[in-house]
Amino acid sequence: EINIQNLSKVYKTNNGSFQALENVSLYVKNEEFVSILGPSGCGKSTILRILAGLEEPTSGSVQVSGEEVKGPSAKRGMVFQSYTLFPWLTVRENIEFGLKLKGMKQKERKEISDRYLELVGLERFADSYGKELSGGMKQRVAIARSLANNPEVLLMDEPFGALDAQTKQSMQQLLLDIWKKEKTTIVFITHDIDEALFLSQRIYVMEARPGRILEEIDADLQLFQD
Ligand code: ADP
Ligand code: ADP
Repeated sequence: EINIQNLSKVYKTNNGSFQALENVSLYVKNEEFVSILGPSGCGKSTILRILAGLEEPTSGSVQVSGEEVKGPSAKRGMVFQSYTLFPWLTVRENIEFGLKLKGMKQKERKEISDRYLELVGLERFADSYGKELSGGMKQRVAIARSLANNPEVLLMDEPFGALDAQTKQSMQQLLLDIWKKEKTTIVFITHDIDEALFLSQRIYVMEARPGRILEEIDADLQLFQD
């Protein structure tokens, strides 16, 4: 689970400092799908980068699974808007990258990459390279690569923001299916309220200047869908 208490972030700038986050507190249960919704510049990415360990809090506490975040870790999978596949590796090699780093043997790696290739529907593209894939397919690889490391949480920063409407819709459905199957804890950043309502169980709504949480919305409409 994720527990953020009284998180503030002040960036140093050329002409002084800028408070990007003020007293942000939020909680995400295990297996929960939570969105952080707000306008550009309200500090969504800052929260995610701090959760990922890519940026330090100015003050406050940021815990994942009961431990204070100190630097990056494969325990927290990241999916960004811009595709971050390694262009010199095939789809399968991208998915196996973290497992190889951990020293996992090839046979075991292949079992895992087979499983995640199937989960995202890319079995036929295992040997393709990123440049041969569409935007939606690249994001499917990025999701598979993150999940292959069996992360405690999946952190997603506007992952479908650059996709056309139709691809975006099918990726949203795919992500929901994956979440239900894998029971992954997901924190999803977006500025699109429809996307947040469609995907998540709860939404933290933020405002800018300074970045703060305005309210928390219960968005679990699954009661009505089943
Ligand atoms: P969002 O993801 O909601 O668009 P960000 O977290 O990217 O917001 O940024 C929040 C605010 O902090 C913005 O005004 C942005 O310009 C500023 N900011 C982000 N990163 C830095 C940085 N490294 N240095 C200075 N200001 C930053
Ligand atoms: P996003 O697409 O999530 O809004 P940005 O374009 O705001 O991201 O930020 C991209 C990178 O630029 C980040 O690493 C962020 O820290 C940095 N950055 C953003 N705003 C500023 C700023 N005002 N000053 C310096 N760095 C910034």
